[in-house]
Amino acid sequence: MGMEKGNFVFKKLAGLTRWCVKKDGVFGQCGRASYKSERPHSSGNGSVSLRNNGGGAQGQQHSARPKAPMSSSRRSVTPISRTRSLPLEDDPESERVRVAVRLRPKNAEELADSDYSDCIELQPELKRLKLRKNNWSSESYRFDEVFTESASQRRIYEVVAKPVVESVLDGCNGTVMAYGQTGTGKTYTLGRLGKEDESERGIMVRAMEDILAGTSTSDSVEVSYLQLYMESIQDLLAPEKINIPIVEDAKTGEVSVPGAEIVKIRNLGHFLQLLQVGEANRHAANTKMNTESSRSHAILMVHIRRSAQEKEDIDVGQQKEIPTDRHGHHVATIRKSKLLLVDLAGSERLDKSGSEGHLLEEAKFINLSLTSLGKCINALAENSPHIPTRDSKLTRLLRDSFGGSARTSLIITIGPSSRHHTETASTIVFGQRAMKVVNMVKVKEEFDYESLCRKLETQVDHLTVEIDRQQKLRENEKTEMKKLLEGFENSTAEAEKRFVARSELLEKENAKLTLHVKELLQELDSQKEQNKLLLDEITRLVTSVRNNKLMEENTRLAMELNNVMEDLRCQKDQNSIMHDEIERLEINLKHSKYAALIC
Ligand code: ADP
Ligand code: MG
Repeated sequence: MGMEKGNFVFKKLAGLTRWCVKKDGVFGQCGRASYKSERPHSSGNGSVSLRNNGGGAQGQQHSARPKAPMSSSRRSVTPISRTRSLPLEDDPESERVRVAVRLRPKNAEELADSDYSDCIELQPELKRLKLRKNNWSSESYRFDEVFTESASQRRIYEVVAKPVVESVLDGCNGTVMAYGQTGTGKTYTLGRLGKEDESERGIMVRAMEDILAGTSTSDSVEVSYLQLYMESIQDLLAPEKINIPIVEDAKTGEVSVPGAEIVKIRNLGHFLQLLQVGEANRHAANTKMNTESSRSHAILMVHIRRSAQEKEDIDVGQQKEIPTDRHGHHVATIRKSKLLLVDLAGSERLDKSGSEGHLLEEAKFINLSLTSLGKCINALAENSPHIPTRDSKLTRLLRDSFGGSARTSLIITIGPSSRHHTETASTIVFGQRAMKVVNMVKVKEEFDYESLCRKLETQVDHLTVEIDRQQKLRENEKTEMKKLLEGFENSTAEAEKRFVARSELLEKENAKLTLHVKELLQELDSQKEQNKLLLDEITRLVTSVRNNKLMEENTRLAMELNNVMEDLRCQKDQNSIMHDEIERLEINLKHSKYAALIC
């Protein structure tokens, strides 16, 4: 081959690390616009078709999934599906699955094995490896990165996993997966804890270190740790949970394992403890099932939940499209991303790893997931219209990782010995095919309904308390009113009773009085009658009295008259006496006067 001189390097752009092409030894403008996705190719006659960017006899543009949308980073907002571009969205490229190969150092057995020579020759500067078929022929394969046996854990992490981790911190889903024959260093690469020597730490620990450094206390980082064996999902953090079902969101297509234990990570020490617990449970489970960890897939799921606003503040010069509700208030958005770190079961044929004890059917079942994964990757690489994702649990869990919206890196691990040539060759072919799989990386952003919900719940709580209070008040008022009403009713009844009794009494009284009045009237009439009689009598009597009086008066007057007459007569008599006297006196006087005169 040797036609292509591109190297993959990383460059940080707008918060995203990209794998970029260094053409002819010169670093190109490593922005999204200049980034070219290289296609896997081999110079041998392997089953992988030869494709590259540079054209040439074997080179041709990669045609797998040509109809895929041509933006490598999209932001999807659920439930109202909304696409918003990350920086440099004008880049028409989608993200190809990145594949690196790591050669394990020779172990003691291989060092002692003089019968078998090495079948691998690495050309790391050319990102190539040569697989020797025999003394005179070899095949050359190009990968995104080729790591020699001396490559450090740190370098492996930074090249293979760090871009995925950063992408996950930016809100995209990501997957880092190790594939290879048992004993080639998958667990070493991914799951090494490095308790004694931190430089030995594998991808899981380093990824968590970066995630914890890249998130704030307001973000949430949670993990689940699962094992998939014989199509049964077991929880490595809660071993009693077995046969955990996979759930697919009908709307978004998101796959989740809600039955699994989810642990919120407090710090790296806490995470290391969990990994240890998981490893111990994996060992115990495999001992119990009389199998080896090489037959099971270990899947570490890291769930990250971040406020999009917070993240956007960091992204400078980015067109922001802040969602608002129908009242025009800003609705916060969150980014929920998931990092899958997958330590696959050994890719060797079953008969080579001591699985003779298994019945054929059982043996088929053990590798069903791995076989399905291979089929899916083949189908995706060949742009087949049907991808058999639903054939196994592993492919369902990895739906987003291959042909989905995740950023995916695959590290294939191989041993140097030609004793395992067949396995090494099949591992390489798997890696080559995986390199053809194109994903459409999307930011998993959605309206922060949870916090909105929490806010609304608090409001509802307040309102409920207020309603309860008001209801209590009403209740009290009602009771009070009821009491009053009862009292009123009682007093009304009492008054009514009294009224009735009184009216009865009055009626009786009335009747009595009426009777009495009647009697009185009768008596009055009789009195009147009597009066009249009496009056008549009186009149009669008065008349008779008056008559009597008159008679008496008459009598008295008559008597008086008699008396007066008597008096008169007396007077007359006296008068006559007196007259006689007077006459005698006058005669006497005349005689005296005469006598005086004679004298
Ligand atoms: P696998 O998980 O693929 O079955 P392991 O990770 O268990 O393989 O590795 C098998 C053995 O090889 C382990 O003892 C491990 O420490 C060792 N090993 C694997 N890769 C390396 C490496 N790059 N450097 C040093 N030792 C390694
Ligand atoms: Mg292992």
